[in-house]
Amino acid sequence: MKKFYVLILIVLAFTSCKSQSINSNTIQPSHTEITENKPKLIVGIVVDQMRYDYLTRFETKFGEGGFKRMMRQGFNCKNNHFNYVPTYTGPGHASVFSGTTPKYHGVISNNWYDKETNEIVYCAGDDTVNSVGTESAAGQMSPHRMLVTTFCDENRLFTQLKGKTIGISLKDRGAILPAGHTANAAYWFHGVDEGAWISSTFYMNELPEWVKAFNISEKAESYLKVWNTLYDISTYSESGADENRFEGGFQGKEKAVFPYDLAELSKDNRGFDILKATPFGNSLTVDFSMEAIKAENLGQDDFTDVLTVSFSATDYVGHNFGVNSKEVQDTYIRLDKDLERFFNFLDETVGEGSYTVFLTSDHGAVNVPSYLNSVNIPSGYVDNNLRKEKFQEFLISIYGTTEIVENISNNQIFINKEKVEELGLNIREVQEAIANEQIKYKNIAKVYTAATMNSANFSQGIEALLQNGYNQKRSGDVILVDDVAYISYGITGSTHGSALNYDTHVPLLFFGNGIKHGETYEKTVIPDIAPTISALLGISFPNSNTGKPLGFIID
Ligand SMILES: [Zn+2]
Repeated sequence: MKKFYVLILIVLAFTSCKSQSINSNTIQPSHTEITENKPKLIVGIVVDQMRYDYLTRFETKFGEGGFKRMMRQGFNCKNNHFNYVPTYTGPGHASVFSGTTPKYHGVISNNWYDKETNEIVYCAGDDTVNSVGTESAAGQMSPHRMLVTTFCDENRLFTQLKGKTIGISLKDRGAILPAGHTANAAYWFHGVDEGAWISSTFYMNELPEWVKAFNISEKAESYLKVWNTLYDISTYSESGADENRFEGGFQGKEKAVFPYDLAELSKDNRGFDILKATPFGNSLTVDFSMEAIKAENLGQDDFTDVLTVSFSATDYVGHNFGVNSKEVQDTYIRLDKDLERFFNFLDETVGEGSYTVFLTSDHGAVNVPSYLNSVNIPSGYVDNNLRKEKFQEFLISIYGTTEIVENISNNQIFINKEKVEELGLNIREVQEAIANEQIKYKNIAKVYTAATMNSANFSQGIEALLQNGYNQKRSGDVILVDDVAYISYGITGSTHGSALNYDTHVPLLFFGNGIKHGETYEKTVIPDIAPTISALLGISFPNSNTGKPLGFIID
């Protein structure tokens, strides 16, 4: 026994001596000490189609642990805007994470006319890769059309690929573009009759076991239940009447009113896809995100990991029911509960104060124009057929052919350069002539030519937003701007895409490790987010960043 104590004493003496000598000889702190104060996990949240005023309009219905926790413990940038058009999902997600605009990252819309192949391309579409986890083509996706890095890519390069990146969203583009080119994985939801989280061979050849297990767990099925308001509908005084003429609703149900029997309605609404247009699509996204954190050990070592989570259901609900609907209000009340559940889980697994979250949106939305009309606010619907008819007459009378225009999409006119040459015309003059014609049309407020976009330098107003959204290689020859609150859309539900406040003003909240408590009305723009996170981590800014780090939010 005595010998044993002596041995312990010797060992203790030796180790303490050894550690002393190491400490006295070591000037540089160890790796652990360097990274100790850095966040172990960055969670980048995008809430699809979330207007800034949803934070304030629904605030009294929010609990303490979701949106309000971010506002009360973190930093609230109250005057945060998109600084480009079009305000759509693909460009939005690319801009949040790359710190720049379509002018540089090249994601000029969700779908656009490709001038080289003369085809419509999808922002995340990639037929050189295959689906993983489905027999369908829904997995043939990658970020290859995004020309720049995201802060997730820069974190991967900085950590010698040791810090992981995983992207998650119901929408493929909401998962793929944020996570960037070097992501370990991106997962999105394939509805129809499968109801499964899938990926592509861009990331992996087979789904990990935990994803397969999740997909057979019947979690998605469990949400095919009755959707009723979380609280008594009579208390939802912050939204319009449940029954009105401004909402779409689901196939197979006459009126867009609560309750919705989702199991029954799923039969007429593309099976599991119905979940995307209910708050339960967001709940499922949180369930899957928590599983990813557990199974992939995110936030468990000294190399900062990044999880990007995009909540898409808010967008589908907004498109279907509109900004002022009870359905939108209930969706945000329930998202608040899901965020609380998610943050509590992060406290338990990564540790309170060890992770950093930011929350923003990819665009806002306009109130349903037919509703705005009913309260005398100028608004309405663009008559695209009439415009097309008049424009074709013009082209034939001036050029003798309609072939001089090869595509009109995303409020841009693409001119056929070969035809211009063949007819011995000058491209600038054709652009000018088309612009002078289009400005005469009903509900067109402004028209600009590519020549103007390439030569002028706009620093403010709608013109500056057009220029930030204008990519010389990919964008069209003539750019059209519709009247305020006029949309190309059906007469029910909301949409987005413009340079106006209802589409550009979105929340920006930060909280957790390294974030001060506070709020500001100073204007911030979407491309400021990525350099702010880069600054927090001490890593390179995304390679084409045009935003500025928001130093005032960093502790
Ligand atoms: Zn949308």
